[in-house]
Amino acid sequence: MSDRLTVDQTKAALVAAADAIIASTERLTKADQAIGDGDHGLGMARGMKAAKEALDKKPAATVGDLFKSVGMAIVSTSGGASGAVFGTLFTGAGKVLTADVLDAEGFATALAEGQKAVQARGKAEPGHKTMLDALAPAAEAARANAAAGLPAAARAAATAAGEGVERTKDMVAQFGRARTLGDRALGHPDPGAISVTIILDAFASTIEG
Ligand code: ADP
Ligand code: MG
Repeated sequence: MSDRLTVDQTKAALVAAADAIIASTERLTKADQAIGDGDHGLGMARGMKAAKEALDKKPAATVGDLFKSVGMAIVSTSGGASGAVFGTLFTGAGKVLTADVLDAEGFATALAEGQKAVQARGKAEPGHKTMLDALAPAAEAARANAAAGLPAAARAAATAAGEGVERTKDMVAQFGRARTLGDRALGHPDPGAISVTIILDAFASTIEG
């Protein structure tokens, strides 16, 4: 277990997150078919494939450079709402990661900044049945567990995100395509919230590994 990741180790964690999304394409497609238009899995997978290529090619001096590469790749290839939303998450997180290591403090700050950027861009708030309902509790858990070190903070964030996904089942969407479904979206989790959990879970597992 490493308490701070180097640039190369952070890159490996981001590649693991990208691979986990790609491997979950089918699950994300099904989730979006239930309350949206079914493109979330393919869109996220396309973005994460481009992200892996960018991580491979672009030199990074700071861990933030890596996050920004991922964000820009997603914005330019994913399409849909999630292209803008997840692109903004990674770009926003990358802006505050100006060091060449990632520690618990940086991780918690990056999640908080990513959340802020997503809210500024998309105007949704926690409770609206979006990826923010996984991201906001994850950012809070990372902050609360930052003193326990990076592996603990990352695992706490992933667990909180997963709990957030469960809560989205009881929410009526107010943003994105699911809002037109009203009560019919009840019982179904938000696809973007699932993606946040998959990303954080893979990230935490790499750090623990
Ligand atoms: P689209 O809605 O264009 O088909 P996707 O299916 O790829 O795009 O992504 C849908 C996900 O995007 C939703 O599950 C939700 O989590 C997220 N989302 C949509 N609008 C917003 C928003 N304004 N703020 C935050 N997340 C959003
Ligand atoms: Mg969709």
